[in-house]
Amino acid sequence: AKNEGRSICEYTPSLDADTNQRFVIMSEMAEAIRNDELVLHYQPKYELKTGKIIGCEALVRWQHKQYGLLPPAKFIPLVELTQLIRPLTYWVMKTAMAQMQQWKREGILINVAINLSTRNLTDEDFIGQVDSLMQEFEIEASEIEFEVTETALMSNLDQAMQQLNEFNLRGIHCSLDDYGTGYSSLSYIKKLPLDVLKIDRSFISQMLEDKEDRIIAQSTIDLAHSLGMKVIAEGVEDENTLRELAAQGCDYIQGYHISEPVDAESLAKLYWEHR
Ligand code: C2E
Ligand code: CA
Ligand code: CA
Ligand code: CA
Repeated sequence: AKNEGRSICEYTPSLDADTNQRFVIMSEMAEAIRNDELVLHYQPKYELKTGKIIGCEALVRWQHKQYGLLPPAKFIPLVELTQLIRPLTYWVMKTAMAQMQQWKREGILINVAINLSTRNLTDEDFIGQVDSLMQEFEIEASEIEFEVTETALMSNLDQAMQQLNEFNLRGIHCSLDDYGTGYSSLSYIKKLPLDVLKIDRSFISQMLEDKEDRIIAQSTIDLAHSLGMKVIAEGVEDENTLRELAAQGCDYIQGYHISEPVDAESLAKLYWEHR
């Protein structure tokens, strides 16, 4: 038995560093949320018709004591596997709304989009939390937006549908994120109260070189418009892609060409630069 214990001890550190880091991440996350170790960056949404910044997407990062600024890919997929995604999303909403209240005092009127996970869509307490945060920070329904992926919707379509109807009743807009990467069936998209289709970056980044990608973008834009939805393209990295999307009739774009996700102060500067 002694030997067994030892061999486990000696074996554990030789597990890949990644496994170890994941373990640390999950055991520290609850405290990180409580201690405000998370930070939000905001990526502008740019309206092609007016050249204005009309909104932004809140993207979470973790200022970790040991690992530095961690991108969401390092922890969101893990957190999403657990109920901890609920307090995390709550933190994101609360922080974003507090920031919006501050921006409004500075004359900055900008919508903020928040990413939701499957467990937020199946959480019966969620809509009540949204209502009370909106009241606390004096935020109108039309000033926030939720982004949901096809995968999150499909994992429990009935509950997701109910939740989306609650958003819709209040006038909170909802976008279908990463459009085209899941198994999108037009029959369910038609049934859901969605306001915006967000074309995934994978169809946008090569669209000038790739004819198929251009066709996919154009047909998504036409489809969305004929269903009464707006369209945003993510991952726009240069002026020529912006022009192509404008020519295709796309409504909004997001991407490094306009700006990477930035802190709140830099977002305010970008907002004024585009007035
Ligand atoms: P997403 O919702 O698809 O967000 C877009 C990601 O693409 C962001 O990465 C953004 O920085 C990146 N991006 C934006 N423009 C460009 C571009 O022009 N080129 C390239 N190459 N990339 C671009 P980020 O911030 O690392 O976020 C990754 C994912 O993490 C997000 O993908 C989202 O699924 C998730 N995430 C981030 N914040 C939250 C959150 O608060 N809650 C939840 N549930 N998920 C979040
Ligand atoms: Ca998103
Ligand atoms: Ca996306
Ligand atoms: Ca994406």
